[in-house]
Amino acid sequence: LFITLEGPDGSGKSTIIKLISDYLRNKGIDFIVTREPGGTQIGEEIRHIVLDEKNINMGRETEALLYAASRAQHIHEKIRPSLEEGKLVICDRFLLSSLAYQGVGRGLGIKEVKAINDFGIKGLNPDLILFFHIDPEVTLSRKFLEDSPDRLEREGNEFHKKVYEGYMELLKLYPENIKIIDATKTIEEVLEESIQKIEELLTK
Ligand code: C5P
Repeated sequence: LFITLEGPDGSGKSTIIKLISDYLRNKGIDFIVTREPGGTQIGEEIRHIVLDEKNINMGRETEALLYAASRAQHIHEKIRPSLEEGKLVICDRFLLSSLAYQGVGRGLGIKEVKAINDFGIKGLNPDLILFFHIDPEVTLSRKFLEDSPDRLEREGNEFHKKVYEGYMELLKLYPENIKIIDATKTIEEVLEESIQKIEELLTK
């Protein structure tokens, strides 16, 4: 089974993923946790390129293709092989991030960005997408944006608001398999809600 976590910067995904891992480990479930951009050596090198604040001249098409390339390698080298071994795969960000950030945030178009991604994804769909819902007004005021921000985090509030709008549009476009988690709640509550959705999938 393949589970992805989605949401705007600062929605708390990384914290919850660590706690979800502890939970799954305690239950003795065979799983891997991975992330995008990254997840493989090639993917992490691409991550470095896209997030490097020196690369201010990167065109939006280049950026979208790099994310798609990172994803293609990730699927080829890690996600598919793990799924074939029967492992549960948990991934921090996947296709929906590209559709929201590059498709809507950068204005490349959801359809267009989906098309370049489909080439590498070859029909692999998450069984469950946990969407961490939080208003950009809340995340943008959080301190994380001030600590050594990467190229994307340096983007202005307008960009992050567009990304949020993008996610809202995607929730309507692809309602199947997406479960919305209220990320404004406490860590304990967010974790409990996330685990509940995962358990529903595991026992289905
Ligand atoms: O989730 P994480 O913080 O690891 O993402 C790294 C950065 O990449 C974030 O600033 C995020 O906004 C950006 N990103 C992006 N487009 C994607 C995926 C991530 O701009 N498709």
